[in-house]
Amino acid sequence: MKIIHTIAELRAWRKTVGTVAFVPTMGSLHAGHMSLIHAAKAAAEHTVVSIFVNRLQFGQGEDFDRYPRTLENDAALIAEQGGVDVIFAPDEKELYPNVIQQYQVTPPAIAEELCGAFRPGHFRGVATVVTKLFNIVEADIACFGKKDFQQLFVIQSMVKDLNMNIQILPVDTGRAEDGLALSSRNAFLSADQRNEAPRLYHHLSRMKAAIEAGDRDYSKLAVQAVTDLRVRGWHDIDYVDTRNAETLKAASNTDHKLVILIAARIGSTRLIDNIEVNLD
Ligand code: AMP
Repeated sequence: MKIIHTIAELRAWRKTVGTVAFVPTMGSLHAGHMSLIHAAKAAAEHTVVSIFVNRLQFGQGEDFDRYPRTLENDAALIAEQGGVDVIFAPDEKELYPNVIQQYQVTPPAIAEELCGAFRPGHFRGVATVVTKLFNIVEADIACFGKKDFQQLFVIQSMVKDLNMNIQILPVDTGRAEDGLALSSRNAFLSADQRNEAPRLYHHLSRMKAAIEAGDRDYSKLAVQAVTDLRVRGWHDIDYVDTRNAETLKAASNTDHKLVILIAARIGSTRLIDNIEVNLD
């Protein structure tokens, strides 16, 4: 396995190999990332994992500076799993030599809802860095986690709308045994907060069960979850929202493929999660 830091070296390597599956990450890898890597290895002859904490997708006052950077551990974890050809770990100067990225990819209005409403510019930052990475790696397939459902939606629609020559492979959310979605940000949680954190998944599961049982009063179900979360000390509950899983628009009573999405803070850590509901 090689660790490559420059675009030139990555491109030189790319010319020498066949099909490539790509897993873009911000590092601080956990078992959720590993399932993306697992899917990537099965999907192409070669696998590239990128590790880059992308300043462009963090807003002012967000956790860019304190975001965990653990390249050595990440490389050890990947090496242990085996089967990855390249870790691409450029520094900021390599990816953003002009300091300000001049050409950026602006997603449509749906990216200003849900997380986008609370993190202005976030998905533009994501779409821009992913486009750059796609242009550099020239992979055949790229794996993205359903954990970040809106991000997956933005990337899938960007690839379609801009005719990018790459296939997007969605991967199921990896969870701890108590249901908490694995996330690099879980490292910020105190022991008490970590005990409380699975509450998000608990509410998603309850809402899913209610909808499956025929309850279509999505806003009532959301209010119940929000009320309980507040009582238990969660704050800045950005949204609890049921959407059409294919369009990400507000869910109607007749939709069959739904996704319930949630974002809330516990202490200073913002956690997100979601669950799909398939009524077919
Ligand atoms: P990140 O490093 O958090 O930017 O995530 C990199 C990729 O890993 C994204 O496609 C995420 O959706 C995915 N990912 C993060 N957490 C999980 C998880 N728990 N299960 C599956 N995929 C995940």
